[in-house]
Amino acid sequence: MITLRSGPAGFAVIDGELAVGGIPLSRLAARVGGTPFFAYDRSLITERVASLRQVLPAGLELSYAIKANPMPAVVQHLADQVNSLDVASAGELAVALDTGMRPDRISFAGPGKGPDEIERAVAAGVTLEVESVTEVNRIAAAGLALSLQPRVAVRVNPDFAVRGSGMRMGGGPQQFGVDAEQVPALLDRIADLDLDLIGFHVFAGSQNLRSEILCEAQRRTVELIIKLAASLAGPIGYLNLGGGFGIPYTDKDEPLDLEPIAANLASLIDGPIATHLPHARTVIELGRYLVGESGVYVTRILDRKESRGRQFVVVDGGLHHQLAASGNFGQVIRRNYPIAVGNLITEPPDEVATIVGRLCTPLDLLGDQVALPRTDLGDLIVIFQAGAYGLTASPTAFLGHPAPTEVLV
Ligand SMILES: *Cc1c(COP(=O)(O)O)cnc(C)c1O
Repeated sequence: MITLRSGPAGFAVIDGELAVGGIPLSRLAARVGGTPFFAYDRSLITERVASLRQVLPAGLELSYAIKANPMPAVVQHLADQVNSLDVASAGELAVALDTGMRPDRISFAGPGKGPDEIERAVAAGVTLEVESVTEVNRIAAAGLALSLQPRVAVRVNPDFAVRGSGMRMGGGPQQFGVDAEQVPALLDRIADLDLDLIGFHVFAGSQNLRSEILCEAQRRTVELIIKLAASLAGPIGYLNLGGGFGIPYTDKDEPLDLEPIAANLASLIDGPIATHLPHARTVIELGRYLVGESGVYVTRILDRKESRGRQFVVVDGGLHHQLAASGNFGQVIRRNYPIAVGNLITEPPDEVATIVGRLCTPLDLLGDQVALPRTDLGDLIVIFQAGAYGLTASPTAFLGHPAPTEVLV
């Protein structure tokens, strides 16, 4: 079984404190100018990519889906280690271009690309993953206006669904991609226009911890794309199999077993892809899996109160920074993320406390009845697994508190 290191275990402990990037947390808090803040450990990101590369087939390309964590320093750090970047807005496109990544190694997916975004992407020379015939027409018009031939790939909504994803983004009726059965007509339309069609993209879902399901999705994706590509005049150069690799968030979650996934991808690349799509570069795109476990959200205890037998700890952060930890980012059942007292990391548990943020709403629950060492005002409460869909997926304006700092250490 190959699983990559996860959560608290990945971070060092120095002088009884959790350390991020080798810096003990209270010192890091002083360095960034106070709490709350997000800290991402660059060496954990580097190790994650390296250990993934070690098991995945050599010919497979790795793309980073920026929306998981668009902090420019994080994207820059990853740009040197992955083959390509996936963006889902013109804002993310600008961050990706700033890294120096070659435009033909940047792909732009997502429904509802605005005409302004399309023009920017065509001018930049990145690959547009088309999600509708309207987009195809707009992209071709932008190409004409700019005297450029836009590079496109077709994002396909597959004719199968992937079970076990935290968020399903393919199969059945979807706003994502073009239904597989509508793709032939779309390909005809593309052929009528001055567009450089390079291949296909399927992204079936996010946060999946079951390797057998991911393997099945990859097999069916390859089958589907071979079928769709057969109607094209020329060979395809690009085959994006999506990703969806999950990370464990709670003690109920088993880390993803990479071994069967790596074996499955190798047999696809050496088998059907080599036979039917010999010119295609095969890509998987991962967001959460590359960065999620490298980050912590650090808050400081503002208050301790007891209410009818329950001990509450009130911190200076909340769901406005880290919505996912409150269980309100698409989770069906709320479960605690891993939590620790960063400046007392080696102390044994001494009490059970409920950790709440400072927002005046009962939704702002960060840790429900967590075993903690005895805490005091000023102690640092750390929420792990905060490197993906943390700040970027949180309603920062809610209640009007200041935004937190982010730091890559
Ligand atoms: C969100 C998204 C990803 C990244 O998903 P993760 O679960 O973070 O790996 C990849 N591709 C597309 C098209 C996406 O929309």
